[in-house]
Amino acid sequence: MEDILRRCRASGVTSVLIPADNEETSRISIDAVKKYDGVEGVTLYASCGVHPHEAKTYTDDTEKFLRTCLESRKDKKIMALGEIGLDYYYDLSERTVQRAVFERQLELAKEYDLPIILHERDATGDCLDILRRFHKEGRLRDLPGVCHCCSCSLEASLELVKMGFYIGFDGPLTFKNNKKTPEVALNTPWDRIVIETDSPYLTPEPNRGIINEPCHVAYVCRRLAEIKGVTIDEAAQITYDNGKKLYGVN
Ligand SMILES: [Zn+2]
Repeated sequence: MEDILRRCRASGVTSVLIPADNEETSRISIDAVKKYDGVEGVTLYASCGVHPHEAKTYTDDTEKFLRTCLESRKDKKIMALGEIGLDYYYDLSERTVQRAVFERQLELAKEYDLPIILHERDATGDCLDILRRFHKEGRLRDLPGVCHCCSCSLEASLELVKMGFYIGFDGPLTFKNNKKTPEVALNTPWDRIVIETDSPYLTPEPNRGIINEPCHVAYVCRRLAEIKGVTIDEAAQITYDNGKKLYGVN
């Protein structure tokens, strides 16, 4: 962990949010923040939540656990609920279960006033249906969260932006055969863009094939700057400021 943080610092990354995908990784995220926050000058933040892959494991006890975490979110530096959402690409949990667990956690996000880290893959239709309904009923925050590692169409991402979401770009933005994501980035308003790594997955070019870690976000930043026609420093500053606003960090 110290090595990872050292490499963060060396590449100019000063803050990292560690996402979770089930009860165990929520604990790991919270413990890592407790133990390593500030090491090598890197500020760490936690999240907790149950990923659609793990939706089938979600029980009343899981929700009790999440509530316990969220009650002490300020002490634990929990800045988001996630990753939560729908994944019909892998279908590792039944779709009806995924939808129900997504909705239960959306309720928690509203109740505890936290942004969500939305994971959506090949499920844009159902995902938007749920979010539209929550939005209409006033059950989404004004800044509902981030569509992380965005893989949906430009039309869908612009609808998410209208609902107040940020759009997160990761390694795929740098992939040579990916035409869609750069198009989405180009047309997403600057004030709604954040950059991420999705570590340990989806390592950006030119490091594809090795394990991903937060320092590699610099490559995503470089590609975003190229697409938007600004300097790397400008892209870094804007996305940093956006990230702070999204997660409510001062
Ligand atoms: Zn994800």
